Amino acid sequence: ATPMSIIVGVGKAAELGMLVRNGEALQGASKISHVLLDKTGTITLGKPSLNQIISCNSFEQSDILQMAASLEKDSEHPLAQAILNKAKAQQLTLQKIEQFHAHSGLGVSGILLADNNPSLSLFMGSEKLLAQHDIEIPLAIIEKANQLAQAGETPVYFAINNQLAGLFGISDPVRDDSIEAIRRLHNAGLKVVMVTGDAKETANAVAKLAGVDQVYARQLPQDKADVIKSLQKKGHKVAMCGDGINDAPALAQADVSFAIGTGTDVAMEAADITLMRDSLHSLADAIELSKATINNIK
Ligand code: ADP
Ligand code: MG
Repeated sequence: ATPMSIIVGVGKAAELGMLVRNGEALQGASKISHVLLDKTGTITLGKPSLNQIISCNSFEQSDILQMAASLEKDSEHPLAQAILNKAKAQQLTLQKIEQFHAHSGLGVSGILLADNNPSLSLFMGSEKLLAQHDIEIPLAIIEKANQLAQAGETPVYFAINNQLAGLFGISDPVRDDSIEAIRRLHNAGLKVVMVTGDAKETANAVAKLAGVDQVYARQLPQDKADVIKSLQKKGHKVAMCGDGINDAPALAQADVSFAIGTGTDVAMEAADITLMRDSLHSLADAIELSKATINNIK
């Protein structure tokens, strides 16, 4: 039978805006030594805005924005919203896309059907996505992307028919309260690690601001899970907190997993505990509560 104090703990958690799927999860949270945080939508707001478009190979800025927004309209990724918002503000009409495909942790692709024109193949995403399809990026553009990333922006590449057409600089601010919440995790004796699919320089800039101890960038969904596995092999108990489809394998691998409530359904289904408050303070609450609950059982 579940000890009374766990039942009390689950009830207390509900009061604090957490949905606990099982009491064991709450119990497990008291033993963890490392907490892994996703970046986009977890440490940051998840409400990115498009700051700049650098066009390449003499494409028009408004044309590439129109095509990029058309491609992104079926994406669930927060970055897609930034592009769609800008296209909407410029009153651009979206075009029809076929064979839309989301490459988890990498970007999106599809075929644009333009009236009276041959169809175009579109790719939008990270350097890795372009490399996978042998799309070359000129050195000057890579340098520009590094500059954006050092300022904390996410560089997103856009290619048409396997030729680079543009570079987008998208920024997503760190949540106001993430810095303080991460301090609370440190005070609870935890090592705080950030895992992200984003570029290395962007990840480092955000990590520095947020105050995390360690950073793993350019991580595909399975890589995030592997980081947890290797910590577990060393005998550590690991918690994971994320919001996206790309976090699902890591959420499943962690000893205790948390989903941010405004995130995707996939993340919430994979997590032990859903944080209804859109803040990392809720994660710190959960860990403090779990330590208190366990102390009651002992
Ligand atoms: P995070 O781990 O920070 O949540 P993701 O794994 O979701 O990041 O994404 C990693 C990278 O993949 C992004 O930084 C971006 O370069 C690219 N990416 C993913 N989805 C999209 C998309 N819909 N549009 C553009 N780029 C994308
Ligand atoms: Mg995310």
